[in-house]
Amino acid sequence: MKTQAAIAHASNRPFVIEEVDLNDPKDGEVRVKISACGICRSDLSALEGKETVEFPVVLGHEAAGTIEAVGNGVSTLKEGDTVVLSWTPACGTCPACIRGQVHLCAGINMTTGSQGPLSLGGVTLDRFMGLGAFCEHVVVPQKMAVHVQSSLLPEHTCLIGCGVTTGFGAAVNTAGIRWGETVAVLGCGGVGLAAIQGARIAGASRIFAVDPIAERRNVARQVGATETLAPEDVPKQIIQMTAGGVDCAIECVGSIATMQDAFHMIRDGGRAIVVGLPAFTEKLDIPAIMLLREKKLTGSIYGSSSPHIDFNKIAALGESGTLDFSALVDKTRHFSEINEGFAEMREGKLTRVVLTF
Ligand SMILES: [Zn+2]
Ligand SMILES: [Zn+2]
Repeated sequence: MKTQAAIAHASNRPFVIEEVDLNDPKDGEVRVKISACGICRSDLSALEGKETVEFPVVLGHEAAGTIEAVGNGVSTLKEGDTVVLSWTPACGTCPACIRGQVHLCAGINMTTGSQGPLSLGGVTLDRFMGLGAFCEHVVVPQKMAVHVQSSLLPEHTCLIGCGVTTGFGAAVNTAGIRWGETVAVLGCGGVGLAAIQGARIAGASRIFAVDPIAERRNVARQVGATETLAPEDVPKQIIQMTAGGVDCAIECVGSIATMQDAFHMIRDGGRAIVVGLPAFTEKLDIPAIMLLREKKLTGSIYGSSSPHIDFNKIAALGESGTLDFSALVDKTRHFSEINEGFAEMREGKLTRVVLTF
């Protein structure tokens, strides 16, 4: 079939919306009509040429939609089902999947290279994170479309596909925050605000939100931060305010400086969790001796979640109002305004721009 995709032909060039060819779903695949797709920081990072994608590429990996067609052998989904796309293929056969850690599936890939169902003038288009959802339709393996039944709006449920699950899961799954703990969240974009909410729901006693932008610090307070700070000299301030450092710091920026700050602001025996996406070649420098204070430094991908279990639980927290989705989206734009949306993301003031179709 023909559909419309926003194509990035080269790094840092504007997207061009063009008519493309999309193959029908093969065995085990489904076609999803996209209803909303968020613009995530990783899309921006890929557009800037910092990630392993091959241009021309269709970005977009935080999407909700409706099943429009299914291939042979699809048993879990049917036409009309509302879904949230997941960027773990959850292959079920790699060592990580067998251990039950589908967020570490060996099949996760930022690039599909010259493989896949989408093409422009006979040239196969790369699809970021195996999805390429800045497109009116996608064809994906059935495991990458999770049936989510919810009364939430598509511009909210789409966030479950990346930002909300990544941030919320980093707090409740990876960090395993316990009631009464003190937590710092560095970076109050969509992922950081979800991490703050995860910490609140887990019962943290104090949640420090760190961001250079005042508007974002205000939203952080709305969703559960108890104290907000600008990033200047923040490890020293937090160590003073907590008499030794927080139990847990969650880095949601993706810069080396904030990763170091996160490590330096935790107490002895505390844990620093890196969620933000660095460029592929960057290196992190920390004083090795601090590891003997039993400080832990680890990363978190996809909130250590199991999309087929966790997506619906997160949607249910949204429906009950426990998890506030509306504070996470400060702008929706039509798909045709994707370049304006990216310009706003680049400015950095907004937490999330979501494209509707
Ligand atoms: Zn796997
Ligand atoms: Zn993302």
